[in-house]
Amino acid sequence: MPLTTDSHAFIALGSNLENPIQHILQALDELAKLPASRLLVYSSLYRSAPVGRLDQPDFINAVALIETALSPQALLNALLTIEQQHGRIRESLNAPRTLDLDILMIDDLKCKENNLTLPHPRMHQRAFVLQPLMEISPDCHIPGQGAISQLLAACSEQRLEQVRENDIK
Ligand code: ADP
Ligand code: MG
Repeated sequence: MPLTTDSHAFIALGSNLENPIQHILQALDELAKLPASRLLVYSSLYRSAPVGRLDQPDFINAVALIETALSPQALLNALLTIEQQHGRIRESLNAPRTLDLDILMIDDLKCKENNLTLPHPRMHQRAFVLQPLMEISPDCHIPGQGAISQLLAACSEQRLEQVRENDIK
């Protein structure tokens, strides 16, 4: 029996406005300060070409793993609050944003509610999620989708590069 009832949650971070690297680094700090939670590990930063709507700047992406006693809804609310503190404006789907925080998975939970779908419904098609996830959890499986190594191989045409240390200040 596990000693803790805490969940493990993978969170995707993305930004493509107003110094995206700084937004991501600050958001990682804020994830570390979430109540009843612990930031366990986070990936390198990646630069990716926009998907869906092409007339916008490249994105900076990362994935973090936290351990948390928050319920899925409480975690989502906490993440939406952090997005708002970064001046996030919801204009339209795939629009540029100062900060996007998506819950990718919480343990092997499946859920489909109005405001929360788990696993995240598009994560398995996105190299900018799968590559950083692969870095921190190479053996990870997405419930209902399969091994991330195989899913990543299927989106090899998506442009993605690791951000060099020198670009991170
Ligand atoms: P996207 O991230 O797909 O570009 P938004 O960030 O604008 O879209 O999110 C829109 C809504 O998606 C959020 O208000 C949230 O309620 C909902 N949502 C559903 N599932 C998730 C999830 N797994 N993680 C984060 N938000 C989610
Ligand atoms: Mg989002």
